[in-house]
Amino acid sequence: MIIFKQAAALQKHLQILINTNRSIGFVPTMGALHQGHLSLIERSKSMSDVTVCSIFINPTQFNNAADFEKYPVTLSEDIYLLEKNLCDILFVPPVSEIYPAGLNATRHYNLERVENILEGEFRPGHFQGVCQVIERLLNIVQPAKLFLGQKDFQQQLVIKHLVKELQLPVSVVSVPTLREPSGLAMSSRNMRLNTLEKDQAAAIYKMLVYLKNNFAGGNFTALEDYASRFLLHHGFDKVDYVKIVNAETLQAATRWDGIDHLVAVVAAFIGEVRLIDNMVITRV
Ligand code: AMP
Repeated sequence: MIIFKQAAALQKHLQILINTNRSIGFVPTMGALHQGHLSLIERSKSMSDVTVCSIFINPTQFNNAADFEKYPVTLSEDIYLLEKNLCDILFVPPVSEIYPAGLNATRHYNLERVENILEGEFRPGHFQGVCQVIERLLNIVQPAKLFLGQKDFQQQLVIKHLVKELQLPVSVVSVPTLREPSGLAMSSRNMRLNTLEKDQAAAIYKMLVYLKNNFAGGNFTALEDYASRFLLHHGFDKVDYVKIVNAETLQAATRWDGIDHLVAVVAAFIGEVRLIDNMVITRV
């Protein structure tokens, strides 16, 4: 695996590959890699000639300074895992390579209704930061395919919206969420949980499965209230939201029309660690 820190050097290398008709698959991450990230690498390898992974903890997408500071950094383990999984190229830029004009010189994106709901409501400015980093990374890497996890359901929709809005020549591939045997969605943030907390965190999955099994014909507000109480009862300290929403628009749903796909989305804290998860409940 070749490791680049400078955008210009990476671009020069990739241009040679693109000129010889090699397709580039791109997996952007913030590091602290786990099997979920590696499933994206694997998918990219199966659909592209060359796979580029980036590790960059993007300061502009953190609305909470403590969350940014505590974000796990495990670069040497990450490099080991990427090598083992035959990733071709790793891009690990310093902040100055991504934001050469400084953090305050970033642009604003029109994200319409997906911006200020759910994650956007609880993390103001978060999706602006996500768009800033993704646009910059896509400009540098110029991939044919961009691989994103369904684990970050809203982020995936926001990035699809961005790609469409800016008419970027890249297709977005969604990869299913990889889970621990307990059902807990793999996440870099799980590293901050102790063994008991990890067991408790699996309640999210149980709750999502409950919603999936009970949504049809149910009163969504009552189900969401029950789900929230279920999490608090099983060791969660605070629930930001549990919602059943339209899987395309993320607008709240009150009942199922039997046609549109619905997704149950959740964000909740165990101690200071905020976990998010989701499940498309209308699919078998
Ligand atoms: P992150 O490093 O958290 O920014 O995640 C980088 C990419 O990995 C994003 O597209 C995430 O959605 C994806 N990802 C994170 N966790 C998982 C998981 N458990 N299964 C599949 N993809 C994941």
